[in-house]
Amino acid sequence: LFIVLEGIDGTGKSTQAKQLAQWFREQGREVIASREPTDGPWGTKIRATAATGRLSPEEELDYFLRDRREHVEQLIAPALAAGKVVILDRYYFSTMAYQGSRGVDPAEIRRLNEAFAPVPDVLFILDLEVETALTRIGGRGDTANEFEKQESLAKCREVFLTLAGEPFVHVIPSDEKPEAVQDRLRQLAAEFL
Ligand code: C5P
Repeated sequence: LFIVLEGIDGTGKSTQAKQLAQWFREQGREVIASREPTDGPWGTKIRATAATGRLSPEEELDYFLRDRREHVEQLIAPALAAGKVVILDRYYFSTMAYQGSRGVDPAEIRRLNEAFAPVPDVLFILDLEVETALTRIGGRGDTANEFEKQESLAKCREVFLTLAGEPFVHVIPSDEKPEAVQDRLRQLAAEFL
C-alpha cells in the first residue's frame, strides 16, 4: 500500500504522515515512512540550495529526479514489493507544483516522473488557503520576499488542486484541528486494511 501526503508548506503534512504511520503500525502493518527531498546525496544538495541560493528551475528539476530515482530504487520499490505500507511526505506531485510554479510544465514533469516512479494508491492533498498556511509558518506577507512566497504558494496550490477528481486523489481541507484531519485520513486509509 502506497500513500502520499502532499500540500503547500504549512498544511501539516509531516505531523499527519507521522501519526498515520503510527496508526498503521498499531494495526499490525509494517510501515516505511519517508520524505522528499530525501536525506540522500541529491536531497541533501537540494535542501542546502534553499539556504545558499536556488538552482535554475531546470537544474532543480534534474536534482529532484535524481533524488527520486534513488528513493524509488533503494527504498520505495523494495518496500512495496515486500508488502509494506509506504507513507511519503511529498513526492512527484510536489515537483509538479513547485517546479511548475517556477515555469516548468507540470504535465511534462508528471510524464518524466511516471516513466520510473510508481503511482501511489492514495494521494492525500492537504489543502489550506495560502494566507492561513503563511500564518502557520510564520510569514506575515508584508515584505517583498513574503509577497513572492505568497504568489508562488498560490501557484503551487493551484497545481495541486488540478489533481482533484482523479480516482486515487483525496483533497483534505486542513483548516480544522489536526486531530480532525488525522481522523479523516484514517477513515479513508481504513478502506485499504
Ligand atoms: O517538506 P519540507 O517543508 O521539508 O520541504 C522543504 C522545502 O522545499 C519546502 O519549503 C518547499 O518550498 C521546497 N520544495 C520545492 N520543490 C519541491 C519540494 C519542496 O521547492 N519539489
